[in-house]
Amino acid sequence: MAETKIPRATAKRLPIYYRYLNILLDADKKRVSSTELSEAVKVDSATIRRDFSYFGALGKRGYGYDVEKLLAFFKKILNQDTLTNVALIGVGNLGHALLNFNFHKNSNVRISAAFDVNEAIANTVQSGVPVYPMTELKKQLIEQQIEIAILTVPTSAVQSVTDDLVDANVKGIMNFTPLRISVPETVRVQNVDLTNELQTLIYFIEHYGEQLGDK
Ligand code: ATP
Repeated sequence: MAETKIPRATAKRLPIYYRYLNILLDADKKRVSSTELSEAVKVDSATIRRDFSYFGALGKRGYGYDVEKLLAFFKKILNQDTLTNVALIGVGNLGHALLNFNFHKNSNVRISAAFDVNEAIANTVQSGVPVYPMTELKKQLIEQQIEIAILTVPTSAVQSVTDDLVDANVKGIMNFTPLRISVPETVRVQNVDLTNELQTLIYFIEHYGEQLGDK
């Protein structure tokens, strides 16, 4: 299948669609209209139709979309039919929480190795995930063919750990620290700053509270 180039905003909505379609499948629903989907996932139906058109998935008028077909399609795009192993670096409070969470059993993404500089936690198993010392980072990532890493180290360590990850051929980094990291163009970074997200939410409520319900 030729690689479909889809807008980033569309790509971000894919997991939301995917999760909801799975719920429909579990409930034995065979088809869904964009209006129905729209109400469930809180994305307007024109956007849904446009998103789906990027994949050539065109709903039939009066029928909607075939749930199973859509799911099979998304599964491929989201790589859900192969298990993706991810590493986590920094088993502190947040790191522990993510290990515990481990992206739900049925999402086909899992943290399979964790790393920490602290000798008290290295060489232990936390929430079922082995924790390795940092000295083993490159070896383990290459051996386990891990190309994605989650960064939950303190900001003071984030760039040097990033450099080590790049050296270990990682392709994607999910950065939970507020610092922006430098990587070569071949590495993709997703920043998740929880404090910032929460402050944005508070800002919107304080400034646009009376328009709640709008975007
Ligand atoms: P959090 O920020 O997740 O709440 P915390 O407050 O418990 O964590 P931090 O000081 O932020 O602790 O450190 C997070 C984890 O990162 C700790 O377990 C620490 O040992 C680990 N860590 C610190 N420096 C490094 C490093 N250079 N490489 C790997 N792990 C590190």
